Amino acid sequence: MYQAVRGTMDILPEEQPYWRYVEQAIADISRLYGYRRIDTPIFEDTGLFSRSTGEYTDIVQKEMYTFDDRGGNSLTLKPEGTPPVCRAYIQHGLHNLPQPVKLYYICPIFRYDRPQAGRYRQHYQFGCEAIGDADPTLDAEVIDIAWRFYKSLGLNKISLQLNSIGCRQCRPVYLTVLKDYYAGYTDQLCADCKIRLEKNTLRLLDCKQASCRKIAESAPKSADHLCTECDEHFKKLQQYLGLLKIPFEMNHRLVRGLDYYTRTVFEIQPEEEGTQSTLGGGGRYDDLIEELGGKPTPAIGFACGIERIILNLKKEGVAIPVPDSLRVLIAYRGDAAREEAIKLAAGLRQAGISAVTTTGGKSLKAQMRQANSLNVRYAVIIGEDEVKAGTAVLRDMADARQETIAIGQLVERLR
Ligand code: AMP
Repeated sequence: MYQAVRGTMDILPEEQPYWRYVEQAIADISRLYGYRRIDTPIFEDTGLFSRSTGEYTDIVQKEMYTFDDRGGNSLTLKPEGTPPVCRAYIQHGLHNLPQPVKLYYICPIFRYDRPQAGRYRQHYQFGCEAIGDADPTLDAEVIDIAWRFYKSLGLNKISLQLNSIGCRQCRPVYLTVLKDYYAGYTDQLCADCKIRLEKNTLRLLDCKQASCRKIAESAPKSADHLCTECDEHFKKLQQYLGLLKIPFEMNHRLVRGLDYYTRTVFEIQPEEEGTQSTLGGGGRYDDLIEELGGKPTPAIGFACGIERIILNLKKEGVAIPVPDSLRVLIAYRGDAAREEAIKLAAGLRQAGISAVTTTGGKSLKAQMRQANSLNVRYAVIIGEDEVKAGTAVLRDMADARQETIAIGQLVERLR
């Protein structure tokens, strides 16, 4: 028996209302803030990700689904949404539009992660990117979108963590200070952190191992080593978040798992923290577009996992709208009645009323059981007598009241 591949899942019809609910909230919030949708391909040249996400990140080192196509090109299933959007921005000359260009996406993301609750090998992300402006107003706007998005879904038990990790000017200075600090702890670091110390120093700060975490707690803070411009930018952002009444906590260990971030980084967590709890995160990436061959173009973005949102909607017991069920089931007995049923179903659908006929020659009793389990509002019953008389029985499933009605009047009546 084939099973869905480990770390992937089917979204069965029962689950779909949650997905429609989240998608509607995404469409609403994006419209409110003027973000337009972009869709990029499922796979890209592998180099796009190794170049931007960062050669020594977990994603590039361990998690990408990379394969050669029949032409020998190395391709990778999208492990995150930002680099493809930047590639599209450059490729289609979007710098010619008024800046910043504001975009959003919903797409599947593929990571060879260790599957567990809230962590899958294929998951879906909603992300938005504001490209072409370094103004901290934009940082506040993107954080505001994330914050209001969760609130609009009914997720209220969330917290915002904030940090600034500086820019090309001040980061190297900070990294030297950080390396000096860690030099005193090398023998206590986990194997991954020993490599990080050399290759990806900043990520020492967000190691999940308890012993490394303790060392990180007392590490020098990037926010204390910002250049004047970054410091001012970060202060302005905090001021604007105050204006927007968005509470935040400073978290000096927050650096995010991708290499391209500059200045602002942030994450949204549920208040009750679990291991796979981060609801969403983002930050500024002022050098990425230039790194990918575009003009120097500052930008900021945010992404969140839809499965984790749904887990939290369930955990918080948020009531979601129940979609309309089918309106009408047409039950019948005999071939002549079946023909009437087929015609009637077509007429109802043309009038915008959802309708099904039964199939498979079930007894009338079985057909009525089906009407019950489909939760239809009305059943129409056509037997041999009704065919002869040109009528049908209309049954209101809510109160079991029945009336006989001319078949020609049914569509109008049900409308
Ligand atoms: P990241 O690009 O790692 O910052 O991920 C953005 C968001 O996507 C996270 O905050 C999660 O909500 C979600 N996410 C990341 N990885 C996974 C995964 N393997 N399974 C499910 N959701 C994920």
